[in-house]
Amino acid sequence: MNMKIDYLDKFSGTLIGVSIGDTLGHPFEGMIRERIYSHFKDFKEFMKENKKLFRTYTDDTQLTLHTAEALIQGSGFNENNFIREYVSWLDDPPIGPGFGCISSIRKLKYGISWKKAASNSGGNGTAMRVSPIGLFYCKDIKSLNSAALKSSVITHSHPAAAAGAIVIARAIAFLIDKSIKSGFSIEDFFETIISSISGTQEKIWEEFIEILNKVKENLNISVEAGLIKFSQAGVKSPFFIEDYLGKAFVHPYTLSTVACAIFIFLKNLDSFEDCIIQLATAGGDSDTVAAIGGSLAGAYFGIGNVPEDLINIVKQQKYIIKVSEQLYLKFREKYRLD
Ligand SMILES: [Mg+2]
Repeated sequence: MNMKIDYLDKFSGTLIGVSIGDTLGHPFEGMIRERIYSHFKDFKEFMKENKKLFRTYTDDTQLTLHTAEALIQGSGFNENNFIREYVSWLDDPPIGPGFGCISSIRKLKYGISWKKAASNSGGNGTAMRVSPIGLFYCKDIKSLNSAALKSSVITHSHPAAAAGAIVIARAIAFLIDKSIKSGFSIEDFFETIISSISGTQEKIWEEFIEILNKVKENLNISVEAGLIKFSQAGVKSPFFIEDYLGKAFVHPYTLSTVACAIFIFLKNLDSFEDCIIQLATAGGDSDTVAAIGGSLAGAYFGIGNVPEDLINIVKQQKYIIKVSEQLYLKFREKYRLD
């Protein structure tokens, strides 16, 4: 049995992890990794000298907060609350949104049913906002799977998007019960996330399982080599960018983004800071890789192990922590934990 886990520390760590990754990755969105690294020798120094570059998070954090708010309002998943929250994001207003996301949410705003509004996009826009579902349902895996799936299909009808959302939510529920003192088994981690999308006839889900198995087999290669290997994993048109073939440039497709986020996270289990810097400088869709990987790192390390200066870089960090607390209280209430 685990040592006593401080779930509030994990809830706050997860949401703050998303926002730190998003904030640090944002200036490097759309750049190949090689070029990102030409800008600095020491990332922390670069950060100190270029504070202005890191003054905001983007859609990844915004939508994660709306997911949390929707769960708080409904004490769990409720389609109408989710749609209302995502529509209200249009008034935030959105920062750096993906096309698949914003086009479907605009349709939802005009009362079009989600079945018609959802775009057939396999983009990473649903995996990047799903972490609150992994937190809230961490003790209720059946509901976790169904809530992650439903939260995805209301904007993205493509099966890749749903698979990414389920895998990330499930990974968070796994990591929340682990501590950096005891660590965890890599084997168990993959078995758990893979089982969450196993046994279907969905071809893309099977392809995703193959990619995840490859990530597991390649944890001994360097971050750079891994990114070259996985940053185009499974990518199809219109997400495929020929120019970046064989380069470390994470394509904004769900399977590639989630594979890279998991790969970098598992390569950096000793330090939240090292982990988040590697994520934010991944190349390509850096903010989203870092938001997703940051949710995993935050769930594992907890906010108590996140350096103060990284928390302070996040815009509205107090609000994010407050939302984490509210979500935690709802979780405790619903699952009657003391
Ligand atoms: Mg973004």
